[in-house]
Amino acid sequence: MKLISDIDSFQMMMDQHRRSGKKISFIPTMGYLHQGHVSLFLKAKEKSDITIASIFVNPSQFGKNEDLSSYPRDISRDYFICERSGIDYIFYPSAGDMYKPGERTSVTVNELSDKLEGEYRPGHFSGVATIVLKLLNIINPDILFLGQKDAQQVVIIKKMMEDLNIKTKMEIVPTYREKNGLAMSSRNTYLTEKEKNEAGVIYKALQYAKDRIVSKEITVADEIKKQMTDIITSGAPDSKVQYVSITDNKNLDMIEDLSKYKGEILISLAVYFGRTRLIDNIIIRN
Ligand code: AMP
Repeated sequence: MKLISDIDSFQMMMDQHRRSGKKISFIPTMGYLHQGHVSLFLKAKEKSDITIASIFVNPSQFGKNEDLSSYPRDISRDYFICERSGIDYIFYPSAGDMYKPGERTSVTVNELSDKLEGEYRPGHFSGVATIVLKLLNIINPDILFLGQKDAQQVVIIKKMMEDLNIKTKMEIVPTYREKNGLAMSSRNTYLTEKEKNEAGVIYKALQYAKDRIVSKEITVADEIKKQMTDIITSGAPDSKVQYVSITDNKNLDMIEDLSKYKGEILISLAVYFGRTRLIDNIIIRN
């Protein structure tokens, strides 16, 4: 495995691999790797000749009052995890090289970026779309691997790739969870043991909603959202639900009457445990 920070030499290596007919998979990450990331690495490895993971805590996707400076970082640990997972290259650029002074270009996927998470994290998805496009341009992979954990990111990147004629294929990997259902996340390191245990209630609420929708027991979205909030706040009294939303999984439009909707339903939410903001989601194929 090689760890490369220099953009130009990395781009040249990728060009060479492509010319020699190798199938390249790419998994963008912000590091502090966990089993969720590893599930993407292993899937990518199955499907390609060369597997690239990037580790880059992307400043442009953090809001002013967010956790950019405290975001967990440990490159030696990440190196070990990548090596053990069979990654061929870690791309580990510096922020100064990725964003040169004087850059004036960013990518925004209109409308989709302002909904759900975008309402609470203005500018976040422009940062995400811009860095993913930059990385795709540097690597030009055959397949991009993203986790279902970040459902809105998947929807937005898919739309960006479609709109900008990017030929890379996308594979979405299911959310990898702790035994109690808590979705793995680098930010879980901010949680106390008690919070981690209690946070399992988020997945319980998502499953509760899924069961009610699949069985058609409840068809009014607002009622499901209210019950989910109750489940979370009674299981984790110190948590604070920021939002629960029920939308379609393409345009992210609210669904009110579930009995009338056919297609993929996305239930997504954000919950605070202390100052830690957790997001999670579930998809129901109706
Ligand atoms: P991050 O390092 O948090 O930016 O995540 C990098 C990639 O890993 C993204 O595509 C995430 O959606 C994905 N990912 C993060 N956590 C999980 C998880 N628990 N299960 C599956 N994929 C995940």
